[in-house]
Amino acid sequence: MSHRITIFDTTLRDGEQSPGCSMNLEEKVRMARQLDALGVDVIEAGFPIASEDDYRAVHAVAREVRRPVIAALARTTRDDIERAWRAIEPAARPRLHTFVATSDLHIQHKLRKTRDEVLDMTVEAVRLARSFTADVEFSAEDATRSDIEFLCRVVAAAVEAGATTINIPDTVGYTVPSEFSRIIRTLQERVTGVRNAVLSVHCHNDLGLAVANSVAAVEAGARQVECTVNGIGERAGNASLEEIVMALYVRRDILPFATGVVTAEIYKSSQLLSSITGMHVQANKAVVGKNAFAHEAGIHQDGVLKERRTYEIMTPESVGIKTNRLVLGKHSGRHALGKKLADLGYPLARPDLDRAYTRFIEIADQKKEIFDEDLIAIVHDGMRDVPEVFRMKSLQASAGTQKPSTATVILEAEGRERVACAVGDGPVAAAYTAIDSITGFRGRLLDYSIRAVSRGRDAIGEVSVHVDFDGRTFTGKAASTDVVDASARAYLHAVNKGLGLARALDAAETPRPLPLAAGRAADRARGELQVAPRAQKQAAETREDEALGGPTRVAGSEGQIRLISLV
Ligand SMILES: [Zn+2]
Repeated sequence: MSHRITIFDTTLRDGEQSPGCSMNLEEKVRMARQLDALGVDVIEAGFPIASEDDYRAVHAVAREVRRPVIAALARTTRDDIERAWRAIEPAARPRLHTFVATSDLHIQHKLRKTRDEVLDMTVEAVRLARSFTADVEFSAEDATRSDIEFLCRVVAAAVEAGATTINIPDTVGYTVPSEFSRIIRTLQERVTGVRNAVLSVHCHNDLGLAVANSVAAVEAGARQVECTVNGIGERAGNASLEEIVMALYVRRDILPFATGVVTAEIYKSSQLLSSITGMHVQANKAVVGKNAFAHEAGIHQDGVLKERRTYEIMTPESVGIKTNRLVLGKHSGRHALGKKLADLGYPLARPDLDRAYTRFIEIADQKKEIFDEDLIAIVHDGMRDVPEVFRMKSLQASAGTQKPSTATVILEAEGRERVACAVGDGPVAAAYTAIDSITGFRGRLLDYSIRAVSRGRDAIGEVSVHVDFDGRTFTGKAASTDVVDASARAYLHAVNKGLGLARALDAAETPRPLPLAAGRAADRARGELQVAPRAQKQAAETREDEALGGPTRVAGSEGQIRLISLV
């Protein structure tokens, strides 16, 4: 008989808080829906006290995703727990997750408390959480570097106070499988009450052992594993969901454990997360990497052709990688596209399908064969999670050994066309400067990446950017056979997200001040356009030519943003 392991997904909380992985509300909801399809048992949707955005996103996930348990994280304070509860209250199955550090290192230096105080905080927090819901999880932060006697006392107190799940995190990715098994066994031996709770583990990957430690803990008696899609998370990341699930599945001969994960949804989940965050997994990443099922060596290819199992311990199909490479071309109709996308796991309804079809035809005009990867890029490119306040009408850029490069951009906003020209070290920098001068946003490019989605010279280039606007980071992405076009539209996507957030905050009549650029953008979005036609020439002249990735400065005093319109 196999034991059921609860898969607790924290992609939207621990994963999301790592650099470059931030998601807005719509993105979190979209990812949560996919996690639901993936069959995870628990979705940790966020840390509601952390920010208004996080609160709203957790609330939205709790309202809209009904099958899994929806968890929210809280420290042990009353404010944290009450805020977390308000965020998940609408969930069909809410869970409060409270935590406090139990290692002396954290207790003394971070919390500046005593062990006894930590015990009291644990009991009070769990009791308070239990007053809201019967599903309460308690985590002993930095458990693997805690004194085991004290860890046992804290766990006993948490169970006694009503915690129904006890989580043992390896917060800094420090433990090794044999030691971690010992900790899990010791807790079960010494804390009798722990039998009434689910024992959980949460491993970080600083030494590359997160998955190994998680599997060892399961063998030692843990029945919940906390993990993230693609292993995203703080520093080197969290234990990767797909690796744990497939390890338990492939080695079910010696690991008598089962999960509720629909393995055929793994690849799609991985792709969706990469697409949302712009953070792609390395080619040799287990289970979901581009090369995970590629057999290059001649002897391996020969073996696989004769009998797949010679070098393949699981099939690509088992994790949802489609090997059927039916190629579409420009004569394929909307119906064929819709069917193909549905086969790939993207059943699109009308407005989205129409948008995808328009992009498909544009790309089919420039590219002979369209591969599955291209179609997925088209779908993600077409998925507009925010209204396109500014839409790209045209872009013309020059590039080459003669410097500077120039770019002329025409954007459409509220039925009006606006034009700007700018110069830069390269065509992308010039295009971004031109976009800035039209939108009034001054973006600082934090990260830019480009990759060929498929093969061949005419491959689609997918660009992902992280752009900082007045201290807030937005991701943007776009795909095109022209990389300058993709770069410009990815940047514009980030701009539109900034505007989307400004509007959402406006609609919520949030009392706190908006970020500068977002606030101004909201003003403009309401039609209070500040037009400074003569500023354009001056801006173009005084703007410095900057390399891609460098800061973008707009002429004028600090914080002063001008809108330039020639049309
Ligand atoms: Zn963590």
